[in-house]
Amino acid sequence: MIGGVPDATTPTGDVVLPPTAPVPAWAQRPTDPESREPAAVGRLATALHDHPGTLVLTGAGMSTDSGIPDYRGRDGSRRVMPMQHGEFCAGPENRRRYWARSFVGWQRFSRAEPNDGHRAVADLQRAGTLGAIITQNVDGLHQAAGSSDVTELHGSLADVVCLTCGDRSDRQALQHRMARSNPGFEARVSGEAPDGSRVSSQIRPDGDVVLAEDAVAGFRLPHCLVCGADTLKPDVVFFGGSVPRERVEACYALTDAAPALLVLGSSLAVMSGLRFVRHAARRGIPVMAVTRGPTRGDELVAVRVDGPLAATLAAVVDARPAA
Ligand SMILES: [Zn+2]
Repeated sequence: MIGGVPDATTPTGDVVLPPTAPVPAWAQRPTDPESREPAAVGRLATALHDHPGTLVLTGAGMSTDSGIPDYRGRDGSRRVMPMQHGEFCAGPENRRRYWARSFVGWQRFSRAEPNDGHRAVADLQRAGTLGAIITQNVDGLHQAAGSSDVTELHGSLADVVCLTCGDRSDRQALQHRMARSNPGFEARVSGEAPDGSRVSSQIRPDGDVVLAEDAVAGFRLPHCLVCGADTLKPDVVFFGGSVPRERVEACYALTDAAPALLVLGSSLAVMSGLRFVRHAARRGIPVMAVTRGPTRGDELVAVRVDGPLAATLAAVVDARPAA
C-alpha cells in the first residue's frame, strides 16, 4: 500500500508525505554561516521582541532533548521508515505490528517530560512575546510545560479513534486493556538481542519500538469497545494520511492573524508544516527559524539561528527588555 501514497504534487498539501530518502537536495545546502554566529541569537531576540504574539510552529527537534528521536539525522537522511496510513488500513497484520510496538514503546513515550526548550517557549508565551503554537509533534509536551493555545497539527498519541465507528477513547486506558489481553508480552520481547542490545530499546518518534516479527505475531490486537472492529488507530496523522481540513484552516487563520512566524526544531521536510511558512512569506510577515542544519524553507526565512534550541531560547528569554 505504500505505493498508494500520493506524490509530492498534491495540490492542497493536506496529505502528509514521508520524508524522502536518500538525502534531498535542500538538506545538502549549507546554512548561512551568519546563522551559526553568536550574533544570530541577538538578531532573533530583537526580531521577536519587535513582533509580540509571534506564531510558533514546532517540529521533532523540539522533543529530542526529551528523549524522543527525530525521523531524520542532522544530514537530512531518514533514520526510520515510519508506519504509513495506507499500510495501517490495509490489514489486521499491519495493525498488530503497530500496536505490539506501540504497547511496548508507550511505557517510555508516556513518561517523557518537557525539556528546557518547551519551558522557554511557555515562558515567552506567558510574557506575550510568543502567541499561539502549532506543533507537528504528537507528544503533548508543550501543554505539559504549561503552554496554552496549542494546535496539534498531526493529532495526539494520547487519543485513540476507531476507523470504523469513529468512537474516540483514551490511549492510557487502551494500554491497560492491551496489558490484560497480553500478559507477559513486554517481558518476553524486552530481553537481549543476539548482539547483546536490548530488543525494544530503540524508541521511534511516533512512540513505538523495533520488535522482531515473530514476537509481534503473538500479540492480541485490541478491538473497539463500541463496535468490536479491530480498526483502532492512534488519533495521529500517519505519513500518507490527511490532516483534517478544519484543523488546516484553523492554522491558516492563525498565520493570517500573526505578526510573525517562528519555526522551532523543524526541517520543514513535509508540506504539512512548510505550507504555513510559505503562507507567512506570501503575507510578507517575517519568518524566523531555530533548527539544527538546513530547512526546506530556508530561502523564506529572514532571521535564522542554526544552533541548539534550548540554549537559544533561554538566551532570548534573558534578552527580554525590562517592562
Ligand atoms: Zn468502533
